[in-house]
Amino acid sequence: MEDRRRVMVILAHPDDPEFFCGGTIGRWAQEGKEIIYVLATHGERGSDDLSIPPETLARIREEEQRAAARVLGVREVIFLNYPDGSLTPSLDLRRDLTREIRRWKPDIVITCDPTVRYRSSYLNHPDHRAIGEAALDAVYPDARNPRQFPELLEEGLPPHRVQEVYLAGAAEPDTEVDITDSLRLKLEALRQHRTQIRDPEGLEERLKEWYRKVEPDGTIRYVERFRRIVLR
Ligand SMILES: [Zn+2]
Repeated sequence: MEDRRRVMVILAHPDDPEFFCGGTIGRWAQEGKEIIYVLATHGERGSDDLSIPPETLARIREEEQRAAARVLGVREVIFLNYPDGSLTPSLDLRRDLTREIRRWKPDIVITCDPTVRYRSSYLNHPDHRAIGEAALDAVYPDARNPRQFPELLEEGLPPHRVQEVYLAGAAEPDTEVDITDSLRLKLEALRQHRTQIRDPEGLEERLKEWYRKVEPDGTIRYVERFRRIVLR
């Protein structure tokens, strides 16, 4: 694990990294891992306030995202500029993700679980399902298969093998990352997303409720949960 230093976070919208896995990102960055974000959209449909033009919202959300990434110690934030709300796991998206994976050569990819359609209290966003599916396809087989997207070879990007995948928001999580020491960082990063947080005052309590884990001896910790896949 210690030698797996570079992490690529592939998600759909600004604020997804911080909501889904901000505690883990903050912790790993502090431990010396290099974190790269690849976001498919600018989230320009993410507001009910119709007085804000979509291009303005896109610009604001990019700034919010870059500020949040700075809080967590992220090295690079890449936007792929797909339209918000219309994402599909297309070959174009797979090629664009494969290009970033081959360019940055991450050891670990974090994305979201494309199989989650709903939970008891919410329906999963179709963009989240689409990016999860495209990211997994890009990890395997696209990034490691030299015959897939031969145009990328011509761009000077040879195959790359990602070693591990962490699925956030997983249907069946099997891995916990202790974020007790980075919960404050996650909170601070989420607060940068001003257009998205309706109740910034209550956010800390909500986070503590969502991520709390009470040990058998009564100790309270905070954890983010993932499905972890170790690739051969
Ligand atoms: Zn989202």
